[in-house]
Amino acid sequence: MKFNFNFEFNFNFNQTFSNYTLTLSHIVNPFIIFASAMETIKKDIRALSKEQLREFFVSQGDKDFRGNQVYEWLWNKGAHKFEDMTNISKETRQMLEDNFVINHIEVDQMQRSNDGTIKNAVRLHDGLIVESVLIPTKKRTTACVSSQVGCSLDCKFCATSRLKRMRNLNPDEIFDQVVAIDKQSRLYFNKPLTNIVFMGMGEPLMNYNNVLKAIDKITSPEGLGMSPKRIVVSTSGVPKMIKKMADDEVKFGLAVSLHSAIDEIRTSIMPFNATFPLADLREALEHWYAKTKNLITYEYVVWDGINDTKKDVEALIEFCKFAPSKVNLIEYNPIDDGEFRQADNAAIDMYISMLEANNITVTVRRSRGKDIDAACGQLANKS
Ligand code: SAH
Repeated sequence: MKFNFNFEFNFNFNQTFSNYTLTLSHIVNPFIIFASAMETIKKDIRALSKEQLREFFVSQGDKDFRGNQVYEWLWNKGAHKFEDMTNISKETRQMLEDNFVINHIEVDQMQRSNDGTIKNAVRLHDGLIVESVLIPTKKRTTACVSSQVGCSLDCKFCATSRLKRMRNLNPDEIFDQVVAIDKQSRLYFNKPLTNIVFMGMGEPLMNYNNVLKAIDKITSPEGLGMSPKRIVVSTSGVPKMIKKMADDEVKFGLAVSLHSAIDEIRTSIMPFNATFPLADLREALEHWYAKTKNLITYEYVVWDGINDTKKDVEALIEFCKFAPSKVNLIEYNPIDDGEFRQADNAAIDMYISMLEANNITVTVRRSRGKDIDAACGQLANKS
């Protein structure tokens, strides 16, 4: 593949100008426009593949392996500055500085819960904020990462759904959340990060390509080298994308936020279910299982007066039958107006005993980080 730097350059140049705001000084001195535009049109170096980096160095009259070295700094060591790339000569680092930027996140604010959970408000290069969470247990530390700024879905019980979707996160922005949490895990819990769940803000399957690219950097030996088996992507259930994931033969786990196996009820709490009804979801999951032979995890909250009857459990059992699956009963984390209330223990016990009687594994997941609004569904930039 030929390195196409000029094309990218022109493309960004036009884009930058169309968004450019003129100030009085720009009108007086057009050179300022050019100088500032030049500054902003530098390409983010992490948008380049390894091959493109190698080709860039060749186009500069350098050796292609220099591209490998820079790639390692970016994706293995998580460098955010060219000056940190100490095995690269000063002149080359300056040349990189002249041509590229490394857009990166900053942990803007960190909150620690009584139970050890850490919530980060993460500032993106354009000033937008997302949240990510570190959840420690005795054996593991898990990163809960965001995939979008806001969310385009409309789950009635989720705080994130009240923020409109602003944009998708880039692969590097997802990667950086993992690196930041890994650092915190080492610093506060003396161990590297062990697991990652895509259960922060956003719907990962609505940002599929970038999520996949981020996971590639996180799992590849040249990147962070984490096992894909330790990663779970959680989705509200976008059938077409579940099928695509299966066809792409991804190696990470899949969790589906089900919450009801009865269309009418699911649509009332997750209105997009009208567009992607359970029959379509089921067909996609059948395809997923046929291709991957991976067990499916269903996330499920039991709410008072919504899905707490025997009929609801029977529908769930029926839904679980077509492929090996497991049900995670999640504790409800209230998000202000009190429209939803966690069902009582009797209802939870009924779910557990009926599921177990049908040989369906069920776990009850206790909430973590509730006191700092870091639990599932509470992420909404309040920090
Ligand atoms: N959009 C993805 C990932 C983000 S939500 C998805 O829907 O799966 C992560 C999990 O938290 C989902 O299972 C979601 O249903 C659940 N959740 C959302 N709001 C919640 C709340 N208030 N209490 C408990 N779980 C919640």
